[in-house]
Amino acid sequence: MTTPTPTPTSPERAPVVIVGAGPAGLTVGNILRAAAVDCVVLETESREFIERRPRAGFLEEWAVRALERRGLAGRIAEQAPTHTEFEFRFGGERQRFPYTEITGHHHFVYPQPLLVTDLVREYADVRGGDIRFGVRDVQLHDVDSERPSVSYTDPATGERRLIHCEFVAGCDGARGVTRSALPAEHATVARHDHGVGWLALLAEAPPSSDCVILGVHPRGFAGHMARSPEVTRYYLEVPAGDDPANWPDERVWSELHARLTVPGTRPLTEGPLVEKRVLDMHNYVVEPMTYGRLYLAGDAAHLVAPIAAKGMNLALHDSLLLADALIAYLGKGDDSGLRGYSEACLRRVWHYQEFSQWLAELLHGPSSGDAFRAGAATARLRRVLGSPAAASTFAELFIGKDTDH
Ligand SMILES: Cc1cc2nc3c(=O)[nH]c(=O)nc-3n(C[C@H](O)[C@H](O)[C@H](O)COP(=O)(O)OP(=O)(O)OC[C@H]3O[C@@H](n4cnc5c(N)ncnc54)[C@H](O)[C@@H]3O)c2cc1C
Repeated sequence: MTTPTPTPTSPERAPVVIVGAGPAGLTVGNILRAAAVDCVVLETESREFIERRPRAGFLEEWAVRALERRGLAGRIAEQAPTHTEFEFRFGGERQRFPYTEITGHHHFVYPQPLLVTDLVREYADVRGGDIRFGVRDVQLHDVDSERPSVSYTDPATGERRLIHCEFVAGCDGARGVTRSALPAEHATVARHDHGVGWLALLAEAPPSSDCVILGVHPRGFAGHMARSPEVTRYYLEVPAGDDPANWPDERVWSELHARLTVPGTRPLTEGPLVEKRVLDMHNYVVEPMTYGRLYLAGDAAHLVAPIAAKGMNLALHDSLLLADALIAYLGKGDDSGLRGYSEACLRRVWHYQEFSQWLAELLHGPSSGDAFRAGAATARLRRVLGSPAAASTFAELFIGKDTDH
């Protein structure tokens, strides 16, 4: 909901207010700064917190190349390991899937906290951008007019502050406030619930394989993903809404061994589990992603369960389009990018959502308790591994399509 504009003491002005300093908001901010467009980024958490929050780790090659062209991929191109294949483990077998050999493209493994750290440093310390951490009670006002504004409570003084602007970029993720400024009669929210949870784990243990492992097992899916030479992300499919307290470390490791070990593989290397939380596997898409002068980007507009590692890549895609569109409008009065923004983002969003749903069924079907779903999921897996045409389509979707950015 957008609320009436308050009358605080000293209103400020900026062409663009960006709500949220995740990958989406920081990318928009950096590109605007490089084009000398002033903006203010508002973030509820502290800088230390966002630079440590563990989440994603896989960047698609087109996204890294796009960041590179904006001078935003320094450490990725230099330091990030690349992945070229992954392994399915199922029915006591292991099968490599060489997606780079098929598509010519690879993934970069770059943990999200490192990306956020790089983007904050570039925005605040190098490009001199205005970013305000720890803000409280962010509210949007008059976004359906030509003079929107954003207010918030200053954490140091407790005062309400008001920023008049021309545009608001809603980049505040799945739990933010900007999405609720789109009236129900203007936007639809399409939702899909996979009906399962994933126990997301971070282990202080070196990876146990040189690639991602997707374990398809009647006890439930299990995943292994390298994050660094010392840290590995694991996932275990669990009932939706399960409590991490039901998963003491011994139970976690025993279940990971049961679902991921097949003859001929080296045993998993165990280590302290420093993150353990249950993610309910659900997706949503807000359509259109805009209302008046408000433009949503990233998880604020669409959530894709981390089944196919697509969310951060989509957030980057939106933010590249949005930054370019804002610059074209504010610099040259060209509004074509803003008019086409939602549609251009949603094409890729739906493409990735559909793939994620397709892959989810392959991973969850065998443990669904439904013999029909289990049989169909196994047929799907065998087709990907047995048919060059199916493998080629799968590989293209898994690596993400190329883009002009
Ligand atoms: C366990 C896990 C693993 C994942 N793995 C992958 C992967 O491998 N690859 C991939 O592509 N994606 C992955 N994702 C998804 C990815 O992390 C998200 O899609 C990505 O963070 C979206 O970026 P964003 O900038 O839109 O939102 P966020 O990163 O959520 O950033 C939003 C920011 O807004 C701030 N904020 C919230 N509310 C407010 C407010 N009211 N006012 C101001 N600021 C606010 C938040 O503190 C946050 O800093 C994963 C997600 C999880 C949870």
